[in-house]
Amino acid sequence: RKKIGVLTSGGDSPGMNASVRAIVRVGIARGCDVYGIYEGYRGLVEGKEKIKKLKWDDVRGFIHIGGTVIGTARCMEFKERPGRLQAAENLIKNGIDALIVCGGDGSLTGADLFRSEWSGLLAELVSLGRCSAEEIEPYRALTIVGLVGSIDNDMSSTDITIGAVTSLHRICESVDSISSTAMSHQRAFVIEVMGRHCGWLALMAGISCGADLVFIPERPPVEEDWETSMCDLLQSHRLLGKRKTIVIVAEGAIDQHLKPIKPDYIKDVLSSRLGLDTRVTTLGHVQRGGAPAAFDRYLSTIQGVEAVEAVFRSTPELPSPMIGMCQNQVTWQPLVKAVEMTHAVAKAIKEKDFKRAMELRDPE
Ligand code: ATP
Repeated sequence: RKKIGVLTSGGDSPGMNASVRAIVRVGIARGCDVYGIYEGYRGLVEGKEKIKKLKWDDVRGFIHIGGTVIGTARCMEFKERPGRLQAAENLIKNGIDALIVCGGDGSLTGADLFRSEWSGLLAELVSLGRCSAEEIEPYRALTIVGLVGSIDNDMSSTDITIGAVTSLHRICESVDSISSTAMSHQRAFVIEVMGRHCGWLALMAGISCGADLVFIPERPPVEEDWETSMCDLLQSHRLLGKRKTIVIVAEGAIDQHLKPIKPDYIKDVLSSRLGLDTRVTTLGHVQRGGAPAAFDRYLSTIQGVEAVEAVFRSTPELPSPMIGMCQNQVTWQPLVKAVEMTHAVAKAIKEKDFKRAMELRDPE
């Protein structure tokens, strides 16, 4: 009888609950025991009451709730080997032989590291006398499956991550609200959106809301004097009769020299050079909250079902898949490859190879 552990990790994202619900119910229907590991990797490291068997009814009503009911946390201990050793021991002591992690690139990097160290961790537990050789024997092949839960949509090898669409929708609602007041007062608004080092939310929001200008990390302004180009563009829009100016800035926006472009700086430029009454709005955590959009419920449900399938069908060639979505098809990719490609994007940006960063984000 398989015992599957499920945890949500990193920043919460709308749809995580729907994936936990799908994993619990499909797992039970397929004869498995499913354990909720509460508070992400922290629960895995702490063990005890943080690891609870979940029944069918325990996830009733989960599908429409935002955030993650089983909790998430940033866990520094799991970044260190002693923490991962403790996590391995807790899995064995609870009889868990498959782990499904729903989280962003950091969480899946951690999952991949845990997977790569697994046999060494088992050997260490035996050598330290914390587990016996017989005890670890059934756990030699731990399956880890990754689901990408992140509002940022920053994971390579998948077109869309769980929560990104809901977050985008929330941003659009907020920008629409700001637009009406901006138009009334003929103001300019500089709106900062989340996304860490990924510009997907900002770019999509810019298109969806008809913003005048968008700043994203993957494509910094090409001009050295981008401030003048920005002012010329926004001024030309005003001359066409626009009563408002909307500039969307990704939180990781940078210039060509990798210097952060901050909303307050843009505000100062627009106020001083164009004389626009300019305000800054940082949307903040409102972007993460609220009920998941229908698409995120659907995405997380079908990916949760696939994650349980992966527990049964993972092979020595693909022991730890990441479940993704490419061209509307659910896909399996080696977790290690997806993690490597995501890190390669960050490296390309640091090396100012922005073209390559874009290609790596969306290799198809
Ligand atoms: P989001 O995209 O929403 O920010 P995330 O998964 O990228 O989510 P992180 O804070 O980067 O969020 O990671 C979540 C947790 O995953 C960390 O607190 C840590 O426990 C674990 N983790 C992250 N990176 C590593 C790593 N390199 N090695 C081991 N564990 C890691």
